[in-house]
Amino acid sequence: MSLVDKYDRAFPYLRLSITDICNFRCEYCLPDGYKCSKESKFLNLDEIRRLVTAFAELGVWKIRLTGGEPSVRNDFTEIINIISNARGVETPAFTTNGYRLKDNAQKWYDAGMRNLNVSIDSLNREKFHKITGHDRLVSVLEGLEKSLEVGYDSVKVNVVLLKGINDNALPDYLDYVRHRPVTVRFIELMQTGDNLEYFKKRHLSAEVIQTKLLEGGWTRNIRINGAGPAVNFTHPDYAGAIGLIAPYSKDFCAGCNRLRITASGDLRLCLFGEIGVPLRDLLQRDDQKHALQERVMKQLDYKKSSHFLMQGETGLIPNLSATGG
Ligand code: SAM
Ligand code: SF4
Repeated sequence: MSLVDKYDRAFPYLRLSITDICNFRCEYCLPDGYKCSKESKFLNLDEIRRLVTAFAELGVWKIRLTGGEPSVRNDFTEIINIISNARGVETPAFTTNGYRLKDNAQKWYDAGMRNLNVSIDSLNREKFHKITGHDRLVSVLEGLEKSLEVGYDSVKVNVVLLKGINDNALPDYLDYVRHRPVTVRFIELMQTGDNLEYFKKRHLSAEVIQTKLLEGGWTRNIRINGAGPAVNFTHPDYAGAIGLIAPYSKDFCAGCNRLRITASGDLRLCLFGEIGVPLRDLLQRDDQKHALQERVMKQLDYKKSSHFLMQGETGLIPNLSATGG
């Protein structure tokens, strides 16, 4: 058994949301902060271990922990341990808002974490405060420095491109990557169930960044098969790189290489899909592994060739904290 769909796309990459709780209030994601609507029941350590073992056997070698804010979980270090020790998982990764990074970068590395993405939508302290609701830019940047010191294999910065807020900030990020081996990835703002007004006001095509990069002598790298949807640019004078993630671009979904699991254990075939398949009932005992794998394989038949974001179809999720970005 291996995870390949009818469009011949392979899925070696799993994004595992371990909580939908978040302590930040990013304007485009959780502008009013996290609201606990029902009793939150997130996958426990045994359920995570069973899930990860089953997917690793199906050929998944990259697992990214996400949320919500994954580091709000008290057992985050144990979860890192589970994914980094799973046989076949070569690339344990996580995405974070960085608020606990400074104090924990070493501990998480020691537990086996190797790759991290930190979200920093502005390098300007006031703007960062305004976007996230927290005046924590300085501490997040210190956390990033600490991670470079510790020696993570890959350190990336996620920047959601926001018209009128950070669309003129490319020079700041270029300065940042000049001497640091960090990839800054500009992500086009995506419409979700909750953010239509914000989306209409702030969405901007990543082409504006691409044009500036090409004018500045940056080279668009050839995409390796299975490398995922980001397009990367490099420049001989810079230690770091710039990436663009443009979900509204043609052929974005042709490079899809990932499946998603929500914090309560539903399989999502697409971030913007209409289908959520509960897996939790098959995570209760080790001897359910084959049934779990069969359910996942069967669902792959329903993965569509593309999302329908262009038509405004945002699927099941109200915001990305619910499924992980
Ligand atoms: N809390 C962590 C963080 O912010 O890095 C992890 C979860 S967050 C949902 C994952 C990524 O999705 C972040 O880089 C965030 O900026 C991005 N994101 C959230 N909502 C988005 C949207 N509507 N469009 C594009 N990216 C979004
Ligand atoms: Fe929280 Fe991340 Fe959403 Fe910001 S983008 S509100 S940090 S989940």
